[in-house]
Amino acid sequence: MREETTKIPQATAKRLPLYYRFIKNLHASGKQRVSSAELSEAVKVDSATIRRDFSYFGALGKKGYGYNVNYLLSFFRKTLDQDELINVALIGVGNLGTAFLKYNFLKNNNTKIQLAFDNDPEKVGRKIGDVPVYSLDDLEEQLTAFQVSVVILTVPVGAAQPITDRLVRYNVKGILNFTPARLSIPPDVRVHHIDLAVELQSLIYFLKHYPNTDADSSQDENNLS
Ligand code: ATP
Repeated sequence: MREETTKIPQATAKRLPLYYRFIKNLHASGKQRVSSAELSEAVKVDSATIRRDFSYFGALGKKGYGYNVNYLLSFFRKTLDQDELINVALIGVGNLGTAFLKYNFLKNNNTKIQLAFDNDPEKVGRKIGDVPVYSLDDLEEQLTAFQVSVVILTVPVGAAQPITDRLVRYNVKGILNFTPARLSIPPDVRVHHIDLAVELQSLIYFLKHYPNTDADSSQDENNLS
């Protein structure tokens, strides 16, 4: 991880990919500068937050000018390590896992799922899209061969912790956990937990109990704050 990113507050860091995607589109359309109001409208983050976020990475917008798009783009590229392809593996080629393997992550960033694992002999040895599916018995060998540092977990809940224990022994530093399991991990490993059933239930709860939320607080707090 780069040094300057460690100084950025976590909430700001979480918004970086969102900013990056928008700035990349602006750059592609030939725009040279952007105001915090325009950014705010596009990414649905209030402009005071945007100004504070951008001040952390030395992008000081000028009144009446806004931010320099080229500067922002090269900052985000460096900070998000966009020049370096990160090898990602997926474990659990069920319905959700298969959908991820077919999804083109490269459309928006340089992340690509390179390989997948399953313990179902029917699935092992096949390719989904262009991603090979390996047996879980080959986990350690293939993690090392592909130098995998990030894993997406889409196995049933009961399989999540035992697999995680194996992953952390083989240098995996980031886990995107789509299972309902709360994982125990060493302090140098990071887990982002996305439980789709809980998110859906929570959305429905909010619709029922807070029907008149104003626009600013109605964005997904999980990702944007
Ligand atoms: P499907 O309809 O293919 O079963 P699903 O998403 O409903 O999909 P799950 O039971 O959630 O199925 O399992 C997801 C995937 O994880 C399946 O492909 C299953 O073979 C695989 N799986 C289950 N246990 C393990 C394990 N211990 N190690 C690796 N993969 C596993």
